[in-house]
Amino acid sequence: MVACSDYRWRTALDTFCRVGLGMATWDALLVPGGVYLVSYPASLPRNYRVGSRMLEFLLEQHRPRRLVLVAHEGCARYRAGLRLPPGHSLAARQQQDVGKVARWAAERYPGLAVEGYYAAGDPASGGTFTPVTALMPAAAAEVTAAPEPRVAPAPAIPEPADQTSLPPAEPPS
Ligand SMILES: [Zn+2]
Repeated sequence: MVACSDYRWRTALDTFCRVGLGMATWDALLVPGGVYLVSYPASLPRNYRVGSRMLEFLLEQHRPRRLVLVAHEGCARYRAGLRLPPGHSLAARQQQDVGKVARWAAERYPGLAVEGYYAAGDPASGGTFTPVTALMPAAAAEVTAAPEPRVAPAPAIPEPADQTSLPPAEPPS
């Protein structure tokens, strides 16, 4: 599972995986923003490098059959990292990122079942987990039977700035 480290969602996430998805045990990659870490290879290359290595390590060491990606409503990492123009929805962007990472994983690991969910509502009462459909990879059977589905290009939205960049050099005095 890849999800946000937000403490408010920890119990709801565990319950969702155990009861909602019927999982007994799982590796968890819990980092601020969850899939945010591996969603921006161009604008946040160091995040991407670290995140993709962690994810690849877990997928290659334990070879799970399924990968569950969860984004959540009101995610502080997304709010801080993306300043969307008016009319753009952060929830939609998060779900696009879930789909993007799902495709990334499905392409690298054939046979891996990848699922994405968007968690909303009150985490204290379990929240509501809705399957993400945007950009999600097709099921394995459909891939062999039909050509790649056409995916509408995502609207152009500014990517997050790499906040770990060094400040500009001081002019000589
Ligand atoms: Zn979060």
